[in-house]
Amino acid sequence: MTDLERMAVWLRDVMDAAELAAQKAAEVCGCHPPAPSWSFRDGDEPTDGRILVVDDPHPRPKRKIGRRWNTSYEGLFMAQHIVRHDPAAVLRRIAADRMMLADLERITKGDYIDDGELPLAEHVIRRLAEGYGWPTATEVST
Ligand SMILES: [Zn+2]
Repeated sequence: MTDLERMAVWLRDVMDAAELAAQKAAEVCGCHPPAPSWSFRDGDEPTDGRILVVDDPHPRPKRKIGRRWNTSYEGLFMAQHIVRHDPAAVLRRIAADRMMLADLERITKGDYIDDGELPLAEHVIRRLAEGYGWPTATEVST
């Protein structure tokens, strides 16, 4: 197995773990389908300043994800960041990354027309791995 192939295996493991975490985060209860989209309601009213589950089947302020964030801008910025990376967004990105990795691997296994495709595919796999936290992605050779 080449370093690049090990990197692809590692990427799939990391994607599996991230996907599972996102799926668990989207499971709001045991009686309804997952609700993977979240939003943030800013404001100073008692029910504002909360991360909300979109289409929450059991909306109520005491849900664990409901926290007051707007006592500080730090909390506000954290809440805005969290809803941009809600389970729906994470699952969508992972699905796209899995398809991209599969496309790139087809190229690295010889399924290409132009000779320039192979080094580009290897480069993009390394960059994809960097994005997922591979520590020495730029140093790995094929
Ligand atoms: Zn339910």
